[in-house]
Amino acid sequence: MSDFDVLIVGGGIAGASLGAEIAAKRRTLIVEAEAHCGYHSTGRSAAFWLESYGGEQVALLTSASRAFLESPPADFSDRGFLHERGALHISEGEWPEVPPNVTAWRIPRDELEAMVPGIRPHWIKALLEPGCADIDVAALHSAFLRRFRQAGGIVATDSRLIEGAQANGIWTVGLADGSTVTAPILVNAAGAWADSVAQACGVERLGIEPKRRTMVQLRVGRAGLRDLPLVDDADGRFYFKGEGDQMVWLSPHDEIATDPCDAAPEEIDVATAIDRFESVVDWPVEAVERSWAGLRSFAPDRLPVYGYDSRARGFFWCAGQGGFGIQTTPAAARLAAAVLLDEPPDAAVANIDPAIFSPARFD
Ligand SMILES: Cc1cc2nc3c(=O)[nH]c(=O)nc-3n(C[C@H](O)[C@H](O)[C@H](O)COP(=O)(O)OP(=O)(O)OC[C@H]3O[C@@H](n4cnc5c(N)ncnc54)[C@H](O)[C@@H]3O)c2cc1C
Repeated sequence: MSDFDVLIVGGGIAGASLGAEIAAKRRTLIVEAEAHCGYHSTGRSAAFWLESYGGEQVALLTSASRAFLESPPADFSDRGFLHERGALHISEGEWPEVPPNVTAWRIPRDELEAMVPGIRPHWIKALLEPGCADIDVAALHSAFLRRFRQAGGIVATDSRLIEGAQANGIWTVGLADGSTVTAPILVNAAGAWADSVAQACGVERLGIEPKRRTMVQLRVGRAGLRDLPLVDDADGRFYFKGEGDQMVWLSPHDEIATDPCDAAPEEIDVATAIDRFESVVDWPVEAVERSWAGLRSFAPDRLPVYGYDSRARGFFWCAGQGGFGIQTTPAAARLAAAVLLDEPPDAAVANIDPAIFSPARFD
């Protein structure tokens, strides 16, 4: 008999949420390379829920996650994870667009000025997407890990998968400390390392590429910014949102191909972010309080990958969550769990065709 029924590689939000869905039904172990599970992308996000982000198929998962994030079951959390903020998509030229199913409307320049005082005159068009909200990522990730453990799941931190091999329907995984673990199902939820983990297990890579994104926390000479909407450029050059009375989180919307690593911000990207920010508002930049970077990992078609590899028995992909891996989590975990367990899907995702996200699309 194997040590576990399912071995999940990666304790970020992808592995934790899928683990939380299956732990009551399968003996499940999460192995996480780092000392704590939120060390990589999950702990570095911009933490918003934006329905228009990622295109129509990602929006299926984003929309299906909203109810859970807003009012989770009482035994999961005693409060919701969203804080409504709204988003302004701004443009110097054409009207910004969002997918047809997303609620948004055009607002006149005077309304834009009231919402973003000090906005420069050449930003002439704006679309308001009121549903945009902040997500309490740390609380959500912790709640998934708590549910996982309560259902009998085990989390092993400081436990990096080094290699894996499958024989007679059982995966044997070698960990960095020299120990081995066995399970018939191996879930690859290794974020930026998804292709590396596949390779270490003798499974063909899917072409999941990590891309670095930079975030900068600025103190500015303008007060009253705490509830500033998320402001983003229709041409994808920046976004920023209020984080404190005189504080914003800003990104230059960079997407720099890199090897999987402990990502760090580059000075040039911080400078670019500030330059673009100063082209939007006349608020004096007083200090860069901190900056950080994280990796957003994309499959070749920029859709996430949930499902069994068609060539490697028992190897399940849970990867490629790009820049939407938090906002899609509740629905994605339920959809992935139904495929993994070969069970009918939860009602919240019953109208989403799992084939859209299957790795079979790359065969
Ligand atoms: C700057 C930035 C802003 C973002 N903003 C948003 C946002 O506003 N909204 C949103 O929804 N999403 C956002 N995202 C995307 C989101 O953060 C990711 O999609 C999500 O965190 C991916 O989760 P994950 O669990 O797949 O990855 P991770 O959190 O990176 O987890 C993968 C884990 O696998 C572990 N691992 C890797 N290799 C091994 C191994 N060999 N053995 C054991 N463990 C291993 C790693 O240590 C890591 O902890 C943003 C991302 C970035 C970088």
